Amino acid sequence: MKKRKVYIAIFIISVLGLAFIQYRYLEIGLNLAKIQFNRKIAQTTQDIKEDLSQKDQLTFLVGKAITQDASFFRLGLDSVQDASSHYLNDFITERLVKNGIETDFSYSLVAQDSTDYLTSPKVFRESEKLNRYPIELDGYLPLLLNKRLILELQFKDINTYFLFQLNGLTIPSLIFILAIIAVVIWVLRSFYWQRNVITTTNEFVNNLTHELKTPVFAIGLATKILEEDISEKKKPIVAIIKHELERLNGHIDKVLELGSLESRKNVFQLTKIDLLPILQNICEEFSALTTLEGITFSYSLEGGPYLLKGEISHLENAINNLLDNARKYSDGAEIRLTAYTCDNKLVIVVSDKGKGISKKDQKRIFQKYYRVTNGNLYKVKGYGLGLSYVKRVIDGHKAKIKLESELEKGTTMTIMIPLLKR
Ligand code: ADP
Repeated sequence: MKKRKVYIAIFIISVLGLAFIQYRYLEIGLNLAKIQFNRKIAQTTQDIKEDLSQKDQLTFLVGKAITQDASFFRLGLDSVQDASSHYLNDFITERLVKNGIETDFSYSLVAQDSTDYLTSPKVFRESEKLNRYPIELDGYLPLLLNKRLILELQFKDINTYFLFQLNGLTIPSLIFILAIIAVVIWVLRSFYWQRNVITTTNEFVNNLTHELKTPVFAIGLATKILEEDISEKKKPIVAIIKHELERLNGHIDKVLELGSLESRKNVFQLTKIDLLPILQNICEEFSALTTLEGITFSYSLEGGPYLLKGEISHLENAINNLLDNARKYSDGAEIRLTAYTCDNKLVIVVSDKGKGISKKDQKRIFQKYYRVTNGNLYKVKGYGLGLSYVKRVIDGHKAKIKLESELEKGTTMTIMIPLLKR
């Protein structure tokens, strides 16, 4: 739960950070675009100033329009002014495009005394926020009027223009950020959905197993009653029932124990214990069992006492699980348990010379329900719960487990449990 919040926080911070960086890039891009624009405008201003200083067809026509002299043409004054407004507009457009500026503009030709002489065919509304670039004209036209003459270029909404120029970068980066957010949300959703399914399945398995307890108990009781009042001949049959019932009970306990370990985090009641006599006991019992089955088992418990913080029943179960696996998967080959202390840790090594575990399976055998599939999986009975239980117990004791195994050579499980400081 805590980890989940940390991951979500990291994700949100990363996305916000990415968005902020993008925003800063955009700002820098806009500033660069503005600098570039100003440079282009300066060049255009220069060109316009130079070209309009000479007397040519255009300046002649504009000159006639601003001096309101239509006598040269066989046209009305309005038409002359209209034509010169259009020609001047085309002239400015051409100079702007030549310098790489392709955005809407308007212009007005005004004298210093604010007399309006000529305006562009398309005029922006006064209310609009305009960027203005005045060009003081030299040569022919001001001389004609004998006044200082200014050609003012006006651009509106220049930021939109810059943004449009940067669109090649901003829109894809926005799309990528959105795509990352969408994918992460999808992954998180399916992850939590799957986790929910797993939790529900686990709860179901635990409930079902719990329900099995009652009939098992009832059968046990009935078997006991039956045992007292039965002929000698039929006693072996009842013994089989009892034996199988004990096994079933053992399996049920395993599932329930694991379930309870999973449902509560701090399920371990760690107390100060000496594991040496407990290990001694486990080894003696296992030794008796293996002798019956004809398996060689040896053990050595070096040093001691093994003082540590732990829960006896869970540690007992975990070590028994390891020994039991060694017995189940070693086809009668030699099994050994060694315990010693090293670097203030208790090291317990359970090794066998059995069929071993492949590298691929080694990564998965600690997962719940995982069993190695090698054709005769069901030759050895199990539910794939033993090692996942061991792992839980080890984690609950802040201990470590190491697995070394080679196919057909054998398996070594090493547990390292922190000892109490003397
Ligand atoms: P189970 O024994 O009930 O199948 P475990 O969780 O104890 O479940 O073990 C998981 C799998 O790991 C087993 O199915 C087995 O294939 C493999 N395994 C465990 N211990 C050994 C071992 N000592 N030697 C070979 N294989 C082992």
